[in-house]
Amino acid sequence: MNDIVAVIGAGTMGSGIAQCLAQAGYQVEVVEPDRSAAERARRGLGEAVRLALLLGRGDRRTATGIGGRVRWVERIDELSAVGFVIECATERTTLKERLFGELDRHCPDDAVLASCTSAIPIARLAAATERPDRVLGLHFMNPAPLTTAVEVVRGEQTAPQTLKQATDLIAALGKEAIVVGDRPGFVLNRVLMLSIAEAAATLDTGTDAATVDALFEQCLGHRMGPLRTADLIGLDNVADTIEVLRRETGASHYHVPPALAALVDAGHFGRKTGRGFHDYR
Ligand code: NAD
Repeated sequence: MNDIVAVIGAGTMGSGIAQCLAQAGYQVEVVEPDRSAAERARRGLGEAVRLALLLGRGDRRTATGIGGRVRWVERIDELSAVGFVIECATERTTLKERLFGELDRHCPDDAVLASCTSAIPIARLAAATERPDRVLGLHFMNPAPLTTAVEVVRGEQTAPQTLKQATDLIAALGKEAIVVGDRPGFVLNRVLMLSIAEAAATLDTGTDAATVDALFEQCLGHRMGPLRTADLIGLDNVADTIEVLRRETGASHYHVPPALAALVDAGHFGRKTGRGFHDYR
């Protein structure tokens, strides 16, 4: 495998993963069709590197190197011969199936195609390609540069060599790979999305978000309650993920509660817009 890694989508996850890769010395090519999102991600990477310098991590030459290792493009057909792809586009099944088909046609035959999807079965994305043995899930957590483990999803057809290449890459980023089987939502989101939806549903009893989170944080010692966690993930992404889980499993307990739907409709997506269940302004 060559050392060029492509990241598809430069939102919350794609920009964080691109930063991890560039810091670890990989050449990175980021595909982002939305120019303002690309500009935000580019600025974010510059700020992260400056902050690391201020904190005494690395020197100026290393910092310049990190920025120089990332190439920004708008389309998949502008990618060079990459060895590994991490797809981080919006959580929509049809969009990701289309992207996997396009990546399959454009990328070298031996390139690994990974998705950072929150809930879409890997088998579904693999079926959009002619290389199902070289497809798997790499479910990074947010913020990618600060989290220490990745939920690695092995599809039924994922080859052992593909899994090894992926776990080697995760190790090179200084993270631990935790391998799980392929089910909608895998392990983490199959459970977490239910807990977020139920926590949001309790708001209709007149209890406020701060109280709900305080119960988890103070009574159970969780670092972050479910509603604060949802705000960090992005409420638009949480709603999309619950929809995917409902469609893929047919289980009625996966549903977007009215309190969550109202925030998404109003454009309050959590930390990234300054307001969600909590106010960050
Ligand atoms: P986001 O909305 O912040 O970013 C998605 C990006 O994809 C946007 O910049 C958008 O312009 C881009 N995009 C849309 N269509 C595209 C296309 N055709 N080609 C390339 N880019 C395209 O979303 P996010 O939170 O970064 O989530 C990205 C993926 O990671 C989703 O599958 C999500 O479920 C998953 N995920 C999110 C989190 C989280 O905490 N936010 C955690 C783990 C996994």
